[in-house]
Amino acid sequence: MKIKFWGVRGSIPCPGPHTVKYGGNTACIEVRLENPDRLIILDAGSGIRELGNHLLARGACRDGLKADLFLTHTHWDHINGFPFFTPLYIPGTHVTVHGPIAMENDSLEKIVGGQLTYYYFPVQETDLAAKIEYRELKEGHYDLGDGLTLEVQYLNHPLLCLGYRFTYQDKILCTGYDTEPFRNIFHTDPADPGYDPDMAREGELAARQENERIQNFFKGADLLIHDAQYTLDEYEPAKIGWGHTALETAIETGLKSQVKRLALFHHEPVRTDQALDDLERTLFPSPPLPDMELFFAREGMEIHL
Ligand SMILES: [Zn+2]
Ligand SMILES: [Zn+2]
Repeated sequence: MKIKFWGVRGSIPCPGPHTVKYGGNTACIEVRLENPDRLIILDAGSGIRELGNHLLARGACRDGLKADLFLTHTHWDHINGFPFFTPLYIPGTHVTVHGPIAMENDSLEKIVGGQLTYYYFPVQETDLAAKIEYRELKEGHYDLGDGLTLEVQYLNHPLLCLGYRFTYQDKILCTGYDTEPFRNIFHTDPADPGYDPDMAREGELAARQENERIQNFFKGADLLIHDAQYTLDEYEPAKIGWGHTALETAIETGLKSQVKRLALFHHEPVRTDQALDDLERTLFPSPPLPDMELFFAREGMEIHL
């Protein structure tokens, strides 16, 4: 598997002179299988626009482009590049969009393709030259053909969000964004009028089990791409419940899951290149961890598994 980052930011694109090194585009990752040649795209944030231009430039659309687009969820930073993916305007393109069912009555097609209505965009989805199919995913195991398999696990986010575990030729790629650790939802302070010791214990146990389930899902990955939008200082208490992880916690998760490489991802848009470099110096373990390579994902970065 060859992985390339085309967008690494969370929330909103933030291009400019202060985000040149790590990039300002929102989530988009290209995954390539070499034999047979197969294109998989994870999320359609603004980074997918550059990926589309790159594919055009290398003539990938000449004989009809086929791609599987896996959406982790449909928050805007993960789909806002979709209407700007130029291959969609070229006859012969065939894109299969895989993703979660967010709400009972709203299909994936309605949410993603709904960006291509006159309220938001000058072109309607029905006017696109490409063939677009939608496949809704649930927790479980999927055989994607060519020796590629996928396991799907629900993460912890305000909207249903899918964690992915791809396996190909004994190599494992996992995604763990957007998510935050499960917490005890019951009162834990005995001084609190609503405190119930049994409920508090139950809540503690349930949160621990859910977190262990996610750690097991990432177990032994060759590469885990994980949410690290905040630092612990930023996360507690102001941003609990917003669906993102502190980078210190992401590192702990990577260690517990014994992953070989951990790419910290979904960077907070206010984080400048300088700020990310500073966090690397102050919050990354020193000396570097012997068994887990750790880095901030950067636009243009390529990893070969
Ligand atoms: Zn996001
Ligand atoms: Zn989100």
